[in-house]
Amino acid sequence: MTQLRAGSATDIGRVRTSNQDQLLVTAQLFAVADGMGGHAAGEVASLTAVEALRATYKAVGGTEGLVSAAQQANRSIWEQAQGNPEYHGMGTTLVAMALVNEDGEDRLAIVNVGDSRVYLLRDGELEQLTTDHSLVQELVDDGQLSELEATVHPQRHVLTRALGVDSEVSVDLLQLLPLKGDRLLLCSDGLVRELSDVQVASILRRLADPNDAAKELVSSAKSRGGNDNITVVVVDVLDDGDLPLAASGALESDPGIHIPSPLPPERGGESDAGGGSRATGRFGRLHHDPAPAVPKRRAITLRVVGFVVLLVALVGGAGYAVALYARGSFFVGLNNDQLTVYQGRPGGLLWFSPTVARQTQVRTGDVLPSRLSDLRTGKEEPSLGQALGYVSRLKAEKAQLAQATATPVPTTPVPTTVAVATTLPHP
Ligand code: MN
Repeated sequence: MTQLRAGSATDIGRVRTSNQDQLLVTAQLFAVADGMGGHAAGEVASLTAVEALRATYKAVGGTEGLVSAAQQANRSIWEQAQGNPEYHGMGTTLVAMALVNEDGEDRLAIVNVGDSRVYLLRDGELEQLTTDHSLVQELVDDGQLSELEATVHPQRHVLTRALGVDSEVSVDLLQLLPLKGDRLLLCSDGLVRELSDVQVASILRRLADPNDAAKELVSSAKSRGGNDNITVVVVDVLDDGDLPLAASGALESDPGIHIPSPLPPERGGESDAGGGSRATGRFGRLHHDPAPAVPKRRAITLRVVGFVVLLVALVGGAGYAVALYARGSFFVGLNNDQLTVYQGRPGGLLWFSPTVARQTQVRTGDVLPSRLSDLRTGKEEPSLGQALGYVSRLKAEKAQLAQATATPVPTTPVPTTVAVATTLPHP
């Protein structure tokens, strides 16, 4: 029987006027949610998320129950936002972790939406388990931005996914076999904004009591700036139950488990290529130490369960596209000098809304200057496809003109005035 012990702490920080973070600590379910929205909306979103999560998980349980609970949390927030103009556009991040028993063994199931994080401290090494759903993370994944540049990027707080901003959401799911001595950290971005991984790891290693560690993390982040609400949950694995193995570290070091496990067949259809490739990278990082002796039974278990990361696609692509079309909420704007398709409305009320639907490789230099005014204001299109079509047309238009002016045939006059933008479509 796996035994856990948790500690937690939260603080408003030094700058914000309200604490929109929420945390949940029960015997087997843990969560952190970081709400966003004007007035009280952010608090409503994160509180709704945590309460819906708890209620749904209690009713269903298990890994599937955890994913359902995150989806239910999304729906609860979305529905409240639809029914109340004050809450329109509110949303929240969510990381949640549950101790589940499946196929006769204890596992930690973790779900993530947004940029709150889950870290694992194992054998003194800190690893980030979750991948942020943020614009800068996408740029880093794309190789357009280094990890260091990402930490100071002006749009580092722009999320590409959050709970409550749409009727459906994709939830990242991963599973971990807990080992005695593991320490898991769930936190809002207010922690990692102020403290480096090295500082976080140092505190987690130094303080054995999870409550002490949680309090020290929060007070340390606050004293180093406290620019945002800070929330942490620290969960220790006191006992991993089934196997009395002394050197647990060796368990994860079978070179065989570098190969990501095949997805359980019933979930294969839901997996996503993007999520899968990230899983591979993360898997590799987690299990990097080569070591000789590996207890066979456990190694096989790890190979089967491995460190499975599933991107749960909730709805078929077609249905999703139709739903988005019906909402008619895409627009083409500028992200620095790159044409970018956003979901939401130009000048959305919240910092995370609109979200980036597609970053194109087309730059302002590739389109006619006369189009820049529309782009700065945000050119609305009913679907992602049509928004991308608009981008292609702008590019073709400029290319055509360049061709036309290069040959000495008379062309129709084109406007060359550059309209001056008033505001950017997004902060
Ligand atoms: Mn935050």
